[in-house]
Amino acid sequence: MERVLTPCEETSKPSHVKIHEYQAKQLFREAGIQVPTGHVVATPAEAGAAFEALGQPLAVVKAQIHAGGRGKGGGVKLVRSAQEAQQAAEAILAKPLVTPQTSAEGQPVKTLLVEEGCDIEHEYYVGITLDRGLGRPVLMASTEGGMDIETVAAETPEKILKVSIDPSGGLAAWQARSLAYGLGLPAEAIKPACQLFGQLTQLYLDKDASLMEVNPLVLTKDGGLLALDGKINFDSNALYRHPDVVEMRDLDEEDPRESKAAEAGLAYIALDGTIGCLVNGAGLAMGTMDTIQLAGGSPANFLDVGGGATAEQVSAAFKIILSDPKVRAILVNIFGGIMKCDVIADGIIAAASETKLSVPLVVRLEGTNVERGRELLETSGIDVITASDLADAAAKAVECAGASS
Ligand code: GDP
Ligand code: MN
Repeated sequence: MERVLTPCEETSKPSHVKIHEYQAKQLFREAGIQVPTGHVVATPAEAGAAFEALGQPLAVVKAQIHAGGRGKGGGVKLVRSAQEAQQAAEAILAKPLVTPQTSAEGQPVKTLLVEEGCDIEHEYYVGITLDRGLGRPVLMASTEGGMDIETVAAETPEKILKVSIDPSGGLAAWQARSLAYGLGLPAEAIKPACQLFGQLTQLYLDKDASLMEVNPLVLTKDGGLLALDGKINFDSNALYRHPDVVEMRDLDEEDPRESKAAEAGLAYIALDGTIGCLVNGAGLAMGTMDTIQLAGGSPANFLDVGGGATAEQVSAAFKIILSDPKVRAILVNIFGGIMKCDVIADGIIAAASETKLSVPLVVRLEGTNVERGRELLETSGIDVITASDLADAAAKAVECAGASS
């Protein structure tokens, strides 16, 4: 059934949307790709029942979080009875799962996938992503699949085979064959592998994916090929034409600051540094980040409040920056054109009075109504460090961030 996006869904999106493994496998299944039979559950009792329903001697209980590396973190457990399935589920659901790809606090697990186990002969890696240099998607495959593909890519990149994909024509038959033979697959697996590479590529193109990974793709002891893991990221700019993908989003897994910013109509991207930036205009935001780097600091975010932001939006932006524990100083850099400096000042004052301003605030205002804006800030009673120009502002912010850390 046709489903129209709500304005909130339309705007509250990070640049890449992720889905869970069980959802990726559903899409694989619909595309004709072989995946293990499984059940999605939320409690230990359901995990036990799922084991019974599968009716196999071996099953796998898998934590469903967006981050990878679950095997290494204890989020993938092989079980041989309903009781073991229940215990594995209990253990995984008990605490946030920490993997090499989550934060140190880990990610809470709400959902589990209980799948029939399989006898693995060999684990391969297959992935598709956009190669920005080539301006085309590339399909990659390696015999070194499993849990350490990042190491393979870093240390032995020659072990990853690659072909570039014509976005209008899809994967050519000869390209699929070159990969299948390149992997040294047994004769009976060549044809199924070629078919699978074609199906994956078509799915990637049809769904406007930005990354798709099957790691591992397994060759089973009985000679079959099975997608044992599945990861798909989508280009959020194309989300409007994939309501089924929107339906699969799990907001609990997404960066709450990025979602909040999008709801408020702000362009926000979280970064690793310590200086929170609030700027109007994407170009000025980039320039501000460069100037901070030049002064020896590092930005905690990119944040463009836009050309015509309201005091409410400025206030929302402030709260988002302040909710980031890495932020040690805030730098506001506004060139008032369409957006007037007094409006910005009002927003800053409103936000500072609603939330406790826990870090130093450096403000550089220039342009329309700048005198009125400065006056509002000076008489507001909030602790503001004013700067004469951007270089001065960046130097002061870097100094404050160093001093307060
Ligand atoms: P990831 O660590 O988040 O990438 O989770 P995966 O789904 O890739 O699982 C990690 C590892 O668990 C795989 O590389 C396999 O070695 C193992 N594994 C997963 N399912 C099965 C299974 O059905 N049978 C066996 N023997 N191993 C499995
Ligand atoms: Mn995996």
